[in-house]
Amino acid sequence: MNLITRADWHAKKPTSVYTRLSSTRGVKIHYTGGTVPADLAEAGNHDRCVDLVQDIQRMHMAGGRGERYIDVGYSMVCCPHRSTFMGRGPHALPAANGAGLNSGHYAVLALIGSSGLTEPNDDLLNALVDAIEYLREHGEAGQEVKGHRDGYATSCPGDPLYRWVRDGAERP
Ligand SMILES: [Zn+2]
Ligand SMILES: [Zn+2]
Repeated sequence: MNLITRADWHAKKPTSVYTRLSSTRGVKIHYTGGTVPADLAEAGNHDRCVDLVQDIQRMHMAGGRGERYIDVGYSMVCCPHRSTFMGRGPHALPAANGAGLNSGHYAVLALIGSSGLTEPNDDLLNALVDAIEYLREHGEAGQEVKGHRDGYATSCPGDPLYRWVRDGAERP
């Protein structure tokens, strides 16, 4: 897998310690919602993925989701160039699945939206499987792969990605 460490993407340090998770039932898949540039997946545009991940961390830590998060809310983030960014990582409670739902599943974000880039390409799907396997190996994630919308009222992770989740979240 192509793992982008927090140092590599110049993550800000979390503002307090993570709540530890010893294991989870599995992973929930998310999308950014909103508009993701339609040409993000082009080969030369990976730098913009890094910018996007930094933006999301900044927004989460500034209170853009209603409260100031201690860090980006996701466990890992995957982009359409088959890279997987370290978020909170394994054994840390995420803040993306909804109240009461974060200890059950790690949260993995795919960089696609509800407009612009809406369809996951094969590199993105492979990066998601890379993240799921990493969280199983290093974070005791169980076998479940679900969408944010499972158990929470949201369109996330969008119909194309949710279809892939329901079909077994397999490598393309
Ligand atoms: Zn979501
Ligand atoms: Zn990328």
